[in-house]
Amino acid sequence: MNNINNIMDISWDNTKISILGGGKSGIAAAKLGRYMGAEIFISDSNDSIETIEKMRKFDYEAGTHSKKVLDSDLVIISPGIPDSIPIITECKYENMHIVSEIEFASWFTTSPILALTGSNGKTTTVNLLHDMCISDGKNSFLGGNVDIPFSENVLWELKSEIINAVHVLELSSFQLEHIRSFSPVIAGLLNISEDHMDRYKDIHDYSSNKIKLTENMDASGWIIYNGDDPILENAFQKQEHTRIFSMQNHPKSQFKLNASKIYSGTSDNPNILFKLNETKLKGSHNIQNILAAATMAHSFGISLKAIREAIINFKPIPHRLEWIGNIKGVDYFNDSKATNMAATLAAIKSFDKQLIVIMGGMDKGHTDFSQLTPSLVNRVKHIFTYGQAGKSIKEQINSTIKVTYAEEFKAAVLQASEQSNPGDIILLSPACASFDQFNNYEERGNMFINIFKNLELEL
Ligand code: ADP
Repeated sequence: MNNINNIMDISWDNTKISILGGGKSGIAAAKLGRYMGAEIFISDSNDSIETIEKMRKFDYEAGTHSKKVLDSDLVIISPGIPDSIPIITECKYENMHIVSEIEFASWFTTSPILALTGSNGKTTTVNLLHDMCISDGKNSFLGGNVDIPFSENVLWELKSEIINAVHVLELSSFQLEHIRSFSPVIAGLLNISEDHMDRYKDIHDYSSNKIKLTENMDASGWIIYNGDDPILENAFQKQEHTRIFSMQNHPKSQFKLNASKIYSGTSDNPNILFKLNETKLKGSHNIQNILAAATMAHSFGISLKAIREAIINFKPIPHRLEWIGNIKGVDYFNDSKATNMAATLAAIKSFDKQLIVIMGGMDKGHTDFSQLTPSLVNRVKHIFTYGQAGKSIKEQINSTIKVTYAEEFKAAVLQASEQSNPGDIILLSPACASFDQFNNYEERGNMFINIFKNLELEL
């Protein structure tokens, strides 16, 4: 048995690691652990052919989490697995060391980590930040909750002996659940709104997980947070070494905003970072994301020139308020990644009139969709709902706005298209997860794009 309490003293050759979850991050952690010399065992409750195929190169079990998991020095838990499953209770009873894949990977890199969490806008913001680091000549690795696990990037860094590396990480609250010493040099907190209420007791339980991001930081690190977010302002206003970004020109914000530009310095003597018409991103929520990335990058020492260059060259990421095209004078926007109400609200507020919105899918946990109503008035003409949550969305908002329900996603999109007139905007921004009719939000967004393309062909 190894002493996992002191990471520096671990002899990996004599260490057994059990990994719960054979998905992307579990496999990446397994490869990193094996590279370090540890003995790996992966356990996944899923026994599909695809899962087994991924685990095959390691000692593994599928379809169960057996007691074999307990025969190890360290347990790495994948983000998709909740803390409440019986095997975790047993591990805790046995006083085993349980860490997340993020914590584990962080033990093997000394490069600076710039990490970001929040409810919405993480992917857009970390991509911007990564581009800013690259523009400044850094060897930036983008990982975490985006496509590439942190462990994969760290393994690549170790093998290639790269210099001047920086890790930019997008972190979900799930990934922060089991950190112990993980310590970014720059920690960004974008916003906190209700999400994943199927996994957390309440918003405080959820937000305290996000705030964990900063708990091991040393005095030289910077915490960058959204000064307009009441939960974050409350959590950090008295903390040292913080910097703020704000859409309301909070007195402590690094960059200021007026109707046409973002600047540093004073309004009498502004140092212009960029003019608002120079970005291809749409909506004020995206300006917030740009401000977050710029403040994080600037605090890390990235030049204003590199920050500006990244901003003006940045293109919207697919499925996030992405313009698809125009048919018969109607613009189509794909925002399939809007899987909670705050994201849909941000999308709706990005337009000022003649909006037709497609919403629905799988509710992530007793969402009160009626909270949308004040923002719909005078902006939204008609809402088309679909899927498992479609009827309840309709019941909650149809006293204010015309709502039509269809069971199937495709039918809802086609009806929206039939009912539209030149000058209208059709926005897919579902406020729900996709899993009732699709494997993921990308599949839902791609179906939307295909329907659009077929309509275009019919012209
Ligand atoms: P995340 O990685 O946190 O899910 P994304 O950049 O993928 O964030 O965006 C997810 C959804 O949230 C998209 O629908 C996007 O349009 C919306 N969104 C992006 N930034 C924000 C923000 N700052 N506030 C609210 N919604 C946002």
